[in-house]
Amino acid sequence: MTEKVRCLIIGSGPAGYTAAIYASRANLAPVLYEGMQPGGQLTTTTEVENFPGYPEGTTGPELMADLRKQAQRFGADIRYGHVTATDLSQAPYKVTVDGEKVIETDTIIISTGATAKYLGIPDETKYAGSGVSACATCDGFFYRKMKVAVVGGGDTACEEAIYLAGLAEKVYMIVRKPFLRASKIMQERVFKNSKIEVLFEHETLGLTGEKVVQGANLVKRRGQADEEQVHIEIDGFFLAIGHKPNSDIFKPWVETDEVGYIKTIPGTPKTNVPGIFAAGDVADPHYRQAITAAGTGCQAAIEVERYLSEKEL
Ligand code: NDP
Repeated sequence: MTEKVRCLIIGSGPAGYTAAIYASRANLAPVLYEGMQPGGQLTTTTEVENFPGYPEGTTGPELMADLRKQAQRFGADIRYGHVTATDLSQAPYKVTVDGEKVIETDTIIISTGATAKYLGIPDETKYAGSGVSACATCDGFFYRKMKVAVVGGGDTACEEAIYLAGLAEKVYMIVRKPFLRASKIMQERVFKNSKIEVLFEHETLGLTGEKVVQGANLVKRRGQADEEQVHIEIDGFFLAIGHKPNSDIFKPWVETDEVGYIKTIPGTPKTNVPGIFAAGDVADPHYRQAITAAGTGCQAAIEVERYLSEKEL
């Protein structure tokens, strides 16, 4: 059965929920599909100290629950469901949810975010759910008083290492460069934490262990004259090496860059397809912050409203 809507929002991070707040207050009766991870990436972080309006900070899950409630207060129709296919060849656009239900819509706000990347070594799959994780907040609890490693040198890796240091006995950070890419404040917190040991210029070759992760084989200064093989004993191996934008199902129609970020007209959420807008991390290789995602979600809803009024006139 096909359902007809005026404004479909796909994805439920800060961008999607903010778009839903604005679109519902503009009487566009938006329908929002939450996707596989309701609330998006922020539900996997702990403290959020930089979202304006929270002088004492908040947590990712709380912030997302508040945004969701705020959107529902104005009548946004928020639904469980994952978009599995799209046909954006002509308006009204067709979107399939969970392989069954078809929605016909005049406009779409794509706010599908980005997904954690893995190194691509076979052991990540072998030990998936048995010591390998891409979310410290989700799985850190299982490693209380144990040894863990976090791969990456960005803000996410630092944040995860600090979080894990609150639970585990020892945290290694495996960083491929001789420096951290993270902001100065996060670097300072890492260096001050006595439980965290940063292994600069190390790369992961593989994981060891009977059934569950018990260690990692690393190489230090790979390819250099003083290259060294290093083994660390760990119980958990956490990936924090960046994200891939969730744009694949829109690609045949919506232009993306070589990484997959949806291209928008600079300063606007407009894509190359009329009536289709992109907001948040799926279109943002630069800032990737909750507040910038929320900002572009607001822009997208305003653009939807303008597009529909022009069309309907
Ligand atoms: P980043 O892209 O900033 O960092 C990724 C890290 O992973 C880099 O150290 C990178 O190394 C490393 N890496 C990438 N691929 C590999 C690989 N194959 N093997 C080993 N290491 C690898 O991603 P983040 O997720 O950390 O951050 C994304 C954005 O979100 C940033 O703008 C960040 O500032 C922001 N952020 C902000 C937070 C906050 O303000 N509270 C919290 C978390 C994120 P290399 O440096 O060598 O490329």
